[in-house]
Amino acid sequence: MNDRTALVTGANKGIGKHIASQLAAAGFTVYVGSRDARRGQQAVGEIGGDARLLVLDVTDAGSVTAAAAQVDRLDVLVNNAGISVSLAPPTGTDVEEFRRTYETNVFAVVAVTNAFLPALRRSAHPRIVNISSGTGSLTWSTTPNPQFPSGSAGAAAYRSSKAALNALTVFYAQELAEEGFKVNALAPGVRATDLNPRASSVGGDPAEAARGAVRLALLPDDGPNGAFFSWDETPVPW
Ligand code: NDP
Repeated sequence: MNDRTALVTGANKGIGKHIASQLAAAGFTVYVGSRDARRGQQAVGEIGGDARLLVLDVTDAGSVTAAAAQVDRLDVLVNNAGISVSLAPPTGTDVEEFRRTYETNVFAVVAVTNAFLPALRRSAHPRIVNISSGTGSLTWSTTPNPQFPSGSAGAAAYRSSKAALNALTVFYAQELAEEGFKVNALAPGVRATDLNPRASSVGGDPAEAARGAVRLALLPDDGPNGAFFSWDETPVPW
């Protein structure tokens, strides 16, 4: 099938750009979401295939409405755009930092998903992939595990925003299951990107994380729904 369409938000760089590249290589028409037209157009050229710029600031209601009006049918929505404002624990995090983080990582996902729902409903096999984080796992935050030392309360705004995104993943999955949707969350692993500069020494290849997202974008009709997976396909506890 060469007429499948996908939208990746925040696809002008980082993990999102790799997801867009891989979906384009898989034959999708890919809408490259970027809040900056110039940087988005540059990414479109680098992504290749049938990639198209879609100017989209996910926190701007007018931008979301205008972008949705340009897409008739959508098979895959990847809610990838995200920010990390502060590494502080909750007592050291101003409520405004929480608000700013939630605007992008939580509220915007609701706005974008709801705006593109009519287009997704025109797909025979609609898929939504929410790019979350293992740091949003409450289980991993409270029990010893190989990937995260327990007891750290850092990056409270970011991590709680991803926990909220995980909850929304379950609720969207439940609500839309009967319509054939698959809505799942991905923990991409630690990647060296602008969002996570501390990962420059330890972070893995963002392309590897993107493959995990593409797998969820291509799930068969009997695949999982309302689940949380690591980039390497292993389930992540909520
Ligand atoms: P980057 O900072 O490289 O990319 C983030 C992307 O989101 C950019 O394209 C950025 O656009 C875009 N974005 C941010 N705010 C908006 C907005 N309001 N409207 C539209 N686009 C926006 O980070 P990553 O690639 O690392 O992050 C991608 C996702 O992966 C995020 O959801 C992040 O939380 C998640 N993640 C990343 C991890 C890592 O180790 N890197 C680990 C776990 C999860 P712009 O260039 O204009 O700022």
